Amino acid sequence: MSDQSYYEVGDFPVFCDEESGKWCVQTAICRLGGCAISKAFDTEEEAHMHATELGATNQEFVMSVCEECYQEYLQDCR
Ligand SMILES: [Zn+2]
Repeated sequence: MSDQSYYEVGDFPVFCDEESGKWCVQTAICRLGGCAISKAFDTEEEAHMHATELGATNQEFVMSVCEECYQEYLQDCR
């Protein structure tokens, strides 16, 4: 077993999600819960390319809100 299920391309973590078996690139941080928000790809190659593109265009992590925290937030508002 090689430990290649997590690495970074520039600032962007690329990792394999064990549950879904998909490759993900972390692109954002949830500003409600601090969770990592990732984009999932079917193959490592696609994920790697996406991370490379993000790095090439000097993108940074965006502050966003993940679905889970958003639902909690909505409930808190009721
Ligand atoms: Zn969250």
